[in-house]
Amino acid sequence: DKGLEVDLLCETDAPETVDYVIYAPSGPVSDFTPFTNLKAVLSLWAGVEKIEGNASIKVPLCRMVDEGLSEGMREWVTGHVLRHHLGMDAHILGQNGDWRNDVAPPLAKNRTVGFLGLGTLGLACADAVSRLGFQVKGWSRDLKIVDGIETFAGADGLREILSVSDIVVLLLPDTAETQNVLNHESLNLLPDGAFIINPGRGTLIDDDALLAALDSGKIAHATLDVFRVEPLPETHPFWAHPKVTVTPHIASETRPDTASQTIAENMRRGEAGEPFLHVVDRAAGY
Ligand code: NAP
Repeated sequence: DKGLEVDLLCETDAPETVDYVIYAPSGPVSDFTPFTNLKAVLSLWAGVEKIEGNASIKVPLCRMVDEGLSEGMREWVTGHVLRHHLGMDAHILGQNGDWRNDVAPPLAKNRTVGFLGLGTLGLACADAVSRLGFQVKGWSRDLKIVDGIETFAGADGLREILSVSDIVVLLLPDTAETQNVLNHESLNLLPDGAFIINPGRGTLIDDDALLAALDSGKIAHATLDVFRVEPLPETHPFWAHPKVTVTPHIASETRPDTASQTIAENMRRGEAGEPFLHVVDRAAGY
């Protein structure tokens, strides 16, 4: 499609002839020193915490931005937001012949969903949830202007968005600045009975603080897709906790048919001498 002639190799004895490395953390390459003529490293993952600190990479590192990945995340986040908004568990789990019609869910317009992270994935999900009628707020490092979404930035902005978010969705990268963004103090800012949905990274949440907030009733439920250690160890208290839903890092994944377009477009740009897309800011860590 891009008019490129490419030799696609899974291994080579001549690393000095390689122009681009298509990278996944599960792949064989971690030392890029032998790739002396490399033009770019093209990550198959959107999250680059496992590679951005690699000092042997001296060329642009590009992260994955993929319409298929965004679509998957939009669907997963929307589904879990609606589960908690509608209180679906009450009528799906433990049916016992008891006609429990005392609580009808509020309308979406009366529920606030706060997104921590308004990048490619956060914005895609915030837009979908906003179209369903929810009040949507978003927090990012630099203040963003987004139609229909009230936006915040900085430490004060974090306090403001948390204080009004009935449902919080974490779509931040794992960086030195974002670790434990949800901790004892910040969890306490949330409205009583708030829900947490984390498809971002496990390091964003202080696990012990979350467990304490769930046990005290401050937080009603946490749906977690990502963890500090993956696979989540069998003995971790999240598995058995009645107010935690564990999903095994399946919120969304890179889809070959669309992601290959991103990879090929960056190779085309490299060959044409044009700037690469989605270059990681190594100082910021994402
Ligand atoms: P992205 O486009 O780089 O967006 C990251 C967002 O986080 C941006 O809005 C950024 O702010 C914000 N941010 C970064 N540091 C911040 C800070 N210190 N304070 C406030 N906001 C900060 O990334 P993406 O493509 O949306 O992906 C987000 C994350 O999702 C990935 O890093 C990865 O960890 C995770 N992910 C998970 C799955 C899964 O299946 N569970 C799949 C793919 C990705 P600015 O807009 O100001 O830069």
